[in-house]
Amino acid sequence: MGRAAYERLSQDRGKRSPSIANQRFDIEEYYQRNGWEFDESLNFSDDDISASKYSTKERPGYNALLATIRVGQIEAVVATEVTRLFRRVEDLLEVHAIVLDVQARSFVIETAPGGARYDLMTNEGFHNALDAVVEASRESGKISDRVRRAKRARAREGRWHGGNRPYGYERAKLILDAEGNITNRGRLVVVESEATIIRELTARILNGEALTKITADLNERKVPTATGNGRLWHPATIRNLFRSKRIAGIREDQGAEYPASWQAIITMEDFERVSLVLGDAARYVGAAKKGVRSYLLTGIVECGICGADGQTHVKLYPGAMWGKQRIKQRKYACKTLDHYGRQIGCGKIVRLADPVEALVSEAVLARFESEDLAALVAPDAPAELHELAAQLVEDRRRLEQANQDRYRRAGDPLRLDLRDFARIRAEIEDAMESVRRRMARLEQGQTLASIPIGRTLRAAWYAADLGWRRIVLSLVVERVKLLPGHPGSRLWPTEDDEHYEDILKQYPDGPWRFDGSRVVISWKV
Ligand SMILES: [Zn+2]
Repeated sequence: MGRAAYERLSQDRGKRSPSIANQRFDIEEYYQRNGWEFDESLNFSDDDISASKYSTKERPGYNALLATIRVGQIEAVVATEVTRLFRRVEDLLEVHAIVLDVQARSFVIETAPGGARYDLMTNEGFHNALDAVVEASRESGKISDRVRRAKRARAREGRWHGGNRPYGYERAKLILDAEGNITNRGRLVVVESEATIIRELTARILNGEALTKITADLNERKVPTATGNGRLWHPATIRNLFRSKRIAGIREDQGAEYPASWQAIITMEDFERVSLVLGDAARYVGAAKKGVRSYLLTGIVECGICGADGQTHVKLYPGAMWGKQRIKQRKYACKTLDHYGRQIGCGKIVRLADPVEALVSEAVLARFESEDLAALVAPDAPAELHELAAQLVEDRRRLEQANQDRYRRAGDPLRLDLRDFARIRAEIEDAMESVRRRMARLEQGQTLASIPIGRTLRAAWYAADLGWRRIVLSLVVERVKLLPGHPGSRLWPTEDDEHYEDILKQYPDGPWRFDGSRVVISWKV
């Protein structure tokens, strides 16, 4: 009984495979390592690229290989990847049928140099080979329902679906049983250094740090990404990381969830809180109107001396020199003259933008945290909006309750299992989505619908872009009046401030010599 080798030159999704010579090199080396003789008469190859575009792409080499299998001449085929050999699931099924037909005792597909072994005569081996081919053909959409069912069965076992390794994990070293079957296929093991980064990201996002800031920090620290090679982090990289429940130990498949066969890196509770923060922020990222304002309070601040309109108060000061570097400081200032040289204000008010914005942000957050969302709907808003807001608040409470019930101690009768929780959550989310759609038709409605309740609002606030913050702010703030400050009189925030650390995280330049009592907020509701 012999062992065949197979090479194929191909172009998949614009990517050219290694040359036939290179594949052959890998295979021969694999033979050598195993002490086998390379049999030239059992070497087959195809060139898919040079074949005419209009040909049916018959593979003469492959067909010759099938013929040798049919006469029971070989018991193994070596290729660089399973998909070199089987372009489609149907190819594998055909070979499977042939080896069943010739009643082979074993028929092994091996990959070199990877060293994966699939014995098509065992159930496990056949399904693992199927796995590999399915994964490769997934994008070309050629999967039959039958294969999809097989795939789902494996998802139910919590196995990794293959492909590029996800950040935080790597494939477990393959363990073979006595018959050479892989016993731990689809298992992932935690990469501790990356898990540490994931936990750090979780904490920082929940602390309200902006993704752009976190991204810059990771890149500065030269933290490697999953693909390595000096690839940089991007806010989307982080967003994607938290898009899959994998890191919380859940295997997802077509909307269903199964306990994964690998370890969780963060808790499900943290995962959901991060999703909430990122989701709510994402809702408004990029939604800002044209001509994005770079100041939170443009149009809302006014001069406390002359009452000049807020629109004229934005100014980027050249600032002081620090060594050879000019420090730009954002300031709100009463402008004396407009572009045409006409007098528009007294020019007597100049205040650092950071502490003013931090102070107003804190006041707004405190307002939203202490009051019912529904109570923040303007009194003159349509009755329907009041009702919808109340409905949304109620739905969110139910969702939080379900979340809590899910993490009750084992044995607690109120504890929700994964399946019930998923069902209840889907139900509530459907209800919320429909409320949101109805709200979005109304003025104020869309913004209200996007405001998370409770402790996650602060995080969402800082993760969201300026446009969203301005809209949320405009729901409750009428005007912010800037009175002349008395710099040097006191520091703000003070260490006994409840949110001292949160504020400094957002504004590392603080605390400032700044008198908060000289900023007067007038509220809408
Ligand atoms: Zn003024």
